[in-house]
This record gives sequence, C-alpha cells and structure tokens, in this order.
Amino acid sequence: MINNDKIIKNYCNSLTEYSRNRTREVFIGNIPLGGNNPIRIQSMTTTDTMNTKATVEQTIRMVDAGCEYVRITAPSKSEAQNLELIKKELRKCGYNVPLIADIHFTPNAAEIAARIVEKVRINPGNYADRKKFENLEFNNNEYEIELERIREKFTPLVKICKEYGTAMRIGTNHGSLSDRIMSRYGDTPLGMVESALEFVRICEELSYYNIVLSMKSSNPQVMVQAYRLLIIKMKEEKMNYPLHLGVTEAGGGEDGRIKSALGIGALLEDGIGDTIRVSLTEDPEFESPIAILLANRYKNRQNHLPIKPIENIPIDPFFFVKRDTTEVEGIGGHNVIRVISDFGFRSLKTFSDLADIGYFYDELTDKWNMNEMASDYIYLGQNSSPFDLPNGLKIIQDFEIWKKFKENIKSYPLLNINEFSDFNGNCEQTIFINLNYNEFDEKVIEKLKLYPSSILVIGTQNLHGLAEMRRFYFDLLIKNISNPVILKRSYNNVNLEEIRLFASTDLGGLIIEGFGDGVWVEIENLNNSEIDSSNSKVYVKKYIKINESKEKIINRMLFGILQAARARISKTEYIACPSCGRTLFDLQETTEKIRKRTEHLKGVKIAIMGCIVNGPGEMADADYGYVGSGIDKITLYKGKEIIKRNISASGAVDSLIEIIKEDNNWIEPS
Ligand code: SF4
Repeated sequence: MINNDKIIKNYCNSLTEYSRNRTREVFIGNIPLGGNNPIRIQSMTTTDTMNTKATVEQTIRMVDAGCEYVRITAPSKSEAQNLELIKKELRKCGYNVPLIADIHFTPNAAEIAARIVEKVRINPGNYADRKKFENLEFNNNEYEIELERIREKFTPLVKICKEYGTAMRIGTNHGSLSDRIMSRYGDTPLGMVESALEFVRICEELSYYNIVLSMKSSNPQVMVQAYRLLIIKMKEEKMNYPLHLGVTEAGGGEDGRIKSALGIGALLEDGIGDTIRVSLTEDPEFESPIAILLANRYKNRQNHLPIKPIENIPIDPFFFVKRDTTEVEGIGGHNVIRVISDFGFRSLKTFSDLADIGYFYDELTDKWNMNEMASDYIYLGQNSSPFDLPNGLKIIQDFEIWKKFKENIKSYPLLNINEFSDFNGNCEQTIFINLNYNEFDEKVIEKLKLYPSSILVIGTQNLHGLAEMRRFYFDLLIKNISNPVILKRSYNNVNLEEIRLFASTDLGGLIIEGFGDGVWVEIENLNNSEIDSSNSKVYVKKYIKINESKEKIINRMLFGILQAARARISKTEYIACPSCGRTLFDLQETTEKIRKRTEHLKGVKIAIMGCIVNGPGEMADADYGYVGSGIDKITLYKGKEIIKRNISASGAVDSLIEIIKEDNNWIEPS
C-alpha cells in the first residue's frame, strides 16, 4: 500500500478539472498515438491467422466499424510470416490500417512479425519464459541472472523494431505474471507494473522509445489500480509512454460491456488512456462501436463546470477501502450496496409490474417470491401503490406525497435541499435527502447532525459528474460525516448502449473507490434502440429485447454494475476471453452452452479461455476453468489446479458440471 500524499496526488493531472494525461507520441504506422492525438480505437481478429481470406475479411469489417489498429495473433513463425500476405491483401483492397502482431512465448515469431507489421505486442510474463506456475524463490543474485537472461532474449527484437520503425506494446496481464515477478511482488498491481518496466528499461538502454504499455486484468479494480501505479512509477523514472486500456476476459453481451466500461471509463474520467480496446466474447466488429461511444464522452469534457479543487486526497487510490458509514434502514454499515428502482415516471398498476424488479406474486400461495436481483427500495415519486408491496421492498416517496399518506403506508420521504432546510420533524425519522455537491454547505452539515437517520442521495448535473461526486466523497471523509450515501445518476435521451456504458463508468468508478451504499439510476427518455453508430456500417447485435421495460433494464444493469465492481454478487460470473486465432473451439458457442447450464449458480466464477496464455493466472480469480488445450481438447481446472487434462470437447461441459458437483457448489436449477 502506498500512502504518501505527494505520490497519491500525482497519478493524474487533476481529480477535479478534466484534462488528458499528456504522454509521448508514438507512431503506429501512419496513425500516431499519445501526445495530442485522440483516444485511438483498436481490436483483435478472432480468425485463424493462417486463413488469409477470413482474416482479411474480418479486418475489413473491423475497420469499417471504426477500428484504427488491428491486432492479429502470431503464435508461431508460420503465422508471423503470413502477416505479410494479410497485409498485402489489405493494402490491395485499399485498407492501410496499422497491424499489430500479438505474441506470447515465441520470440522467433516476434522477430519475424516486427519486420512486417507496424507494431508487436509482447506479454512480459511469457516473452522469454515458459511459466511453470510454481512458487519459486529468487534471491537477489538469481533475480539478476534472470533479468540478464531476459535482456539477451529480448534485445534482438528491440533492435529489429528500431531498425524497421516498428512500435511495441509491452502488455502485462494480471493472470500471466512470470514466476520471477510473482516471487518478489505476488500477483499485485505493483507486480504488474514491474513486469512491464523491467522490459521498458531494457528498451531504453538500447535507446528504443516507440513503446506503448498496458496493465490488463479481468478485475476492473485491479486494472485501475495498476494503471494508476504505472503512471506514478513511470514519473519516478522519467518515462511517459502512452497507455493502452482494456479489461481482459470481460465476457460478452451486457456483462462484458459493463465490466469494460467500468474499468476503462474509470481511467478515462481522470484523463488516463491513449488507446482503448473493449474486448468482448463476440465478433470483433462489435467491439469498436462500443469503444467509440466510451471515448467520445470525453471530447468536450474540459468544458465542464468548475469543481472545488482538492489539495490532500483522503483516500489511497491504489488500495480499496470502503467508506465507513452508519447503518440506516439496511443501508450502509456492513450491508451490501442497495439497489433503488425508479418508478417516478411510471405508476404501479398490477402485481406483475414488480416482476421487472425481481418480485413475483404467486396467486396460489398468495405470497411474493423474489429472485437474486430483487431491488431493495422502490421510488414512487408523486405516486402511491394501489396494492400492498412485498415486505422486503421498501418505499421512497416525494416529501409532499409522503406527508399525505404516511399514516396509511410505511414509506420514507425524499426531501430536496429546501425541504430539508425547513424540516423540523422527528429527529429519529429516516429521511432521504436529494442533493448535489454545490448544495452541501455548513448549514446542511449542521442540520445533518440533528438527523442522524438521514440518507444522502447524491446526484450531479456536472458534465464531469464522477469527479464532482468524488469531490463530495472527499468532503464527507474530511468532515467525518458517516451518513450512508445513495449514488444517483439521471440521464435523458440515451439509448441502451449509452446507458450501460455511462452508468457503469459513473457509478462503478465510484464504487471501486469505496464510495456508495446504494445505487439509483433515473432515465427520462430511454431510446430502446441499439447503438446509433456514426460509422458507415453498424455491427451491433440485438442481445437485449427491445420490449423490455426501462425499469427492468435499469434493474438488471445496476446488479450487473455491482457484480462487475465485486460489490454485490447476484449471479454466476464468467471470465471469458474474446477468443483469437489461438482458440481451437467455438468460444462464443461454448460460453453460451456453459452459461445456459450454470447461470443459476450465484457467486460461482467460471473462466472460459481459448488457450492457456492467461489461463491459470487468471484463474486465480476464478473457481473453475474451461481452457482450450488442443484441437477439440479441453483442460478443466478447479482454481489453478488441473482436474482433467486434454479431454474431448464433446463431453467437457458435462465434466465441468461434475467437478462443480463434487466440489459441493452445485444446486439444481429451479
Ligand atoms: S486467452 Fe483467448 S484471446 Fe487470449 S490468447 Fe488465448 S485464445 Fe486468444
């Protein structure tokens, strides 16, 4: 844990005034990255690199969807060599997109590719090592010998890159740190940073600076902490290389988008990041429109309303600590983060309306049942309910309405700041107070002391909303105010893609900082259509039913954000790689198959990987792993331990379920 104000202050330009972190400009072919350039969009092919036609066609679709750099895997010398043909065919079709060779384990493939493509990506965890996944001990001398061995293996590639003007990404993955790094730092953000910097130092010794860095993890919190730490460490060593942002193995569909937006968005909010890849377990042409939406949010961000600057930050941005709060009505204290459903724009009419937020009325038993995603509070605004609500669902109403009905129904009032100023009710009454940072003054602070059972509903109208709400958080900490806080964001005229990405960033980015005891999203006009792509072609799957109600969409999304932030687990978690030319089975189909059989297993984490490069390490974070290990061959893991090796893909899902059963983590679907 780093706990030094001077260091803490320095991971971005400002926590209150948006500006992009200025990095060194690096040319990837003819498209420069970093410096004053816009946030670049990139993605990776999933085809077999030896299949030139399929790779060229897929690359073209990706470029048409807005992708500015295309990465292609080169697992061995023959794939590396075939990049030449792919490049030639693309140029023939008029596509000059810079290509990036993705390398794991094979320096000789990297050395071929570096002469052909515009950039090579190496993974410092496995470039010169075949990882043994053992707990090895390295004393100082042995560590130095290892570094010398790496220098010898890595130097030829650096020299080729220098000679050919090829750029290089040194891309650390949380799951595949080398045994050497693990021995000294463990699988920590600091280990991730050191893993990359060992290689950067070698580059600099050889006067090679055409470098981009990344720190990926499937856990957005770890990923955000690692990037921040990387910036600090780079500053200490007078480096300022551009950063490639991504959440690895994010999965697909809604969950993949939420997880990616949470990690990538949290960094973009602070002006960090020069290029992004949203990796989804979907065809890669679906990735760029999402990445573009995320990046475009920051185009005019510097025009935001001013936020009071802060000198000393009262949190450690490299270490998660949840804000200490007093429990009020099941909110705050040690409770999970609560979900508030907004029915302010929709009157409740029948029992079935509540199915959208996880409550199901059973006529036979005259009882309510709830699922894992049942919201905790319902906001009825100016309305009341025509029927009794389930016991577990608490009601919030606007103050004026609450006063009228308080004798008849149990509910809690929501007061605006003026109503709170005039309020002189019972000091034990639980009240919700809607306010933003500009309304939070000494008078409010004094009055809060009289009403310890008040819950703050914090919103913002600032374009730089996360920063303003975080500034509020800092003041609450500095002033020792422990009332629970509901994070509320209001959006207007958004579509389904935007709302997922924006809310995941705006709420998730604060939750991973330790802020928030509840989440609430209000949307005035939700456009139930999929992405409005500014590109000439639209490649977006309709994975969500358009006829779902706004309340249902928001409810599922809020639970998804809490799951991605690891703040409240309500479903099975899939750590699924996006697949690439190394994948030897149909990853999308298999992920779907596994999902169908296991999605009722709340809290179980299943990793589904096309190959082993990020396998066991990433599975430090998963309970079970399903990993490709040859053509139609699967290896199954429990944690990092191999349980079945190289079994036929045809029965592998059944075997996975057997392992879960033997481990007593199986329940029958209801
Ligand atoms: S884990 Fe998946 S995306 Fe990563 S290299 Fe293996 S197959 Fe490709």
